[in-house]
Amino acid sequence: MSDSSFTELKQGVIDTCLKMNAVGINQGTSGNVSVRSADRFLITASGVSYEKMKPEHIVEMDGKGGYFGDFLPSSEWRMHQDIFNAYPQACAVVHTHSTFATALSCLRKEIPAFHYMIGATGGSSLRCANYTTFGTRQLSINMLEAMKDRNACLLSNHGMICFGPSLESTLALAVEIESLCKQYFIACQAGDPVILDDGEMIRILERFKSYGKQPDELSPSSTPAVEAPEKRD
Ligand code: 13P
Ligand code: ZN
Repeated sequence: MSDSSFTELKQGVIDTCLKMNAVGINQGTSGNVSVRSADRFLITASGVSYEKMKPEHIVEMDGKGGYFGDFLPSSEWRMHQDIFNAYPQACAVVHTHSTFATALSCLRKEIPAFHYMIGATGGSSLRCANYTTFGTRQLSINMLEAMKDRNACLLSNHGMICFGPSLESTLALAVEIESLCKQYFIACQAGDPVILDDGEMIRILERFKSYGKQPDELSPSSTPAVEAPEKRD
């Protein structure tokens, strides 16, 4: 990769952090962001304010516990590394301490399928990883367990983490998860939310495979996300 596109990728990580704080799903130096780069990944340095962050503060790691350069990587580098190693489709990881996700993580319970958009996290619930101290190997082990067959989870008394195919889509997923947590929190104040059953979630997860795709991106065998209108010439 050329030096300029490497710097561009690092700048993409910084821009994602700045947006994460600007849209209100994170604050201060909490949270961290990373992006895959060939067989390595680039991650925010630990404890550096996002406003002051420069491309040199984005730390390159080798995926085997090693880092390059003068700055220490995020204290949560293990969670990012373990996601990149366990999920080949993961190209970016976002970890935040967003308010509603963090509040619900303190209940140490999964968020059930109260809304079909829970399917955006890859399954019929958003699980919550067992509690342990931040920045530990055990936290990453607990996270992987909660993230089995999913692309996101809550972290008990801490926040949330998710991954996706790009920095942009992963940030969008983090925003969606925070909205879902807020909606669930409010619904629980109002009463006892009705949970979508497993059969409905199976149908929804099938539709998610084609949702947002245009006709030329779909295989003939895929289930359309919704019944398409008739195409006119
Ligand atoms: P870092 O500044 O080390 O990335 O830590 C922030 C955080 O959220 C730890 O869980
Ligand atoms: Zn954290």
